[in-house]
Amino acid sequence: MGRVLMIGAGGVATVAAFKIAQNADVFTEFMIASRRKEKCDEIVKAIGNPNIKTAQVDADDVEQLKALFNDYKPELVVNLALPYQDLTIMDACLECGCNYLDTANYEPKDEAHFEYSWQWAYKDKFEKAGLTAILGCGFDPGVSGIYTAYAAKHHFDEIHYLDIVDCNAGNHHKAFATNFNPEINIREITQKGLYYKDGEWIETEPLEIHKPLTYPNIGPRESYLMHHEELESLVKNYPTIKQARFWMTFGQQYLTYLDVIQNIGMSRIDEMEYEAPLADGSGKTAKVKIVPLQFLKAVLPNPQDLGENYDGETSIGCRIRGIKDGKELTYYIYNNCRHQDAYKETGMQGVSYTTGVPAMIGAMMFFKGLWRKPGVWNVEEFDPDPFMEQLNKQGLPWNEVFGEDLEL
Ligand code: NDP
Repeated sequence: MGRVLMIGAGGVATVAAFKIAQNADVFTEFMIASRRKEKCDEIVKAIGNPNIKTAQVDADDVEQLKALFNDYKPELVVNLALPYQDLTIMDACLECGCNYLDTANYEPKDEAHFEYSWQWAYKDKFEKAGLTAILGCGFDPGVSGIYTAYAAKHHFDEIHYLDIVDCNAGNHHKAFATNFNPEINIREITQKGLYYKDGEWIETEPLEIHKPLTYPNIGPRESYLMHHEELESLVKNYPTIKQARFWMTFGQQYLTYLDVIQNIGMSRIDEMEYEAPLADGSGKTAKVKIVPLQFLKAVLPNPQDLGENYDGETSIGCRIRGIKDGKELTYYIYNNCRHQDAYKETGMQGVSYTTGVPAMIGAMMFFKGLWRKPGVWNVEEFDPDPFMEQLNKQGLPWNEVFGEDLEL
């Protein structure tokens, strides 16, 4: 049915590749391209399908991307590299007539700033080119928006209160590790909190607001209010929302490490000079520029290697309060995903799994012609029903609870 090119060969991309390969009736031709071709080849080897093609590309370089797109001619480019590459990949898609899908909003490298404005600015260009761009199709953002769209379509006349709750109750048995790209993860968590209330955005200190929330099959976990990009599109697309917040759980040990990392300056994202030994073995040194957080990433455990010893599960969902037929209704929709199940199927842990599976389903929706309209769209702007059906079939089944106390 379709020719897809995936960019990136990290944890999320590995899961998406397994799932694309499992759905070969939809994805008839498949190429993986990343900064290092050998990582793409490793994925192909793990899947065991030599028909999957691989290529090297620096996705920061529009000319390299154009050469690749013109050569392979994908109908859809699935961007599972880093948020820094969103705009270069969108530019190359426009120039080569390719459609686009990603899982995280664009971030400039020198500024941890989470908003859709840069990518929404491409709406006219994609519309004029007759191309579809699907933004934020992981779990959160991604399934969180699709759950909200499903609730709005089937259960509510008006949504008033939306709380997205993201719990990782897993244990990887490392002193400190992040569950996805450490640089992107630490940038996100050390930012100020932000939530929406009565038409205004309210800023908090990083992780200032927190409370225990009870997660299904897990129990109570301390949950911290954070800014998360999907709140921006959801309050725009559902104007009846009075309050929208995002909560994520962290263990005390994780937060202690994070404090130390910040206090010793290792979370800095600006360049600094470092006197480094020359590679020629002469013992001489030279000044080089490093970004402390990128250096820290190099010494932290690779999230792709956490799966084997990861036990426990994730639980991510939406807790919604609103009105149906004039009466107040509470609704909770969620998925629980066991790290070991994800590992057995794809060799990756649950956080990569819960992101890579929705990315594949979004691509499937595109190829089936169900999510295809010229312009730049957030996931909640498409019909949620066929996507929800696939979640149940592709390894991320969902559960609904009506009329219970949401604790929020
Ligand atoms: P990884 O760091 O594991 O993978 C990123 C991949 O992109 C790596 O293979 C990396 O290459 C490659 N890459 C980086 N820069 C370039 C470049 N310039 N050109 C080509 N390839 C490049 O990250 P994850 O798999 O953990 O995350 C992938 C994406 O998913 C991120 O954007 C992240 O923000 C997003 N995400 C979204 C979630 C959601 O629910 N919506 C949740 C979790 C993650 P190399 O291997 O050489 O380093």
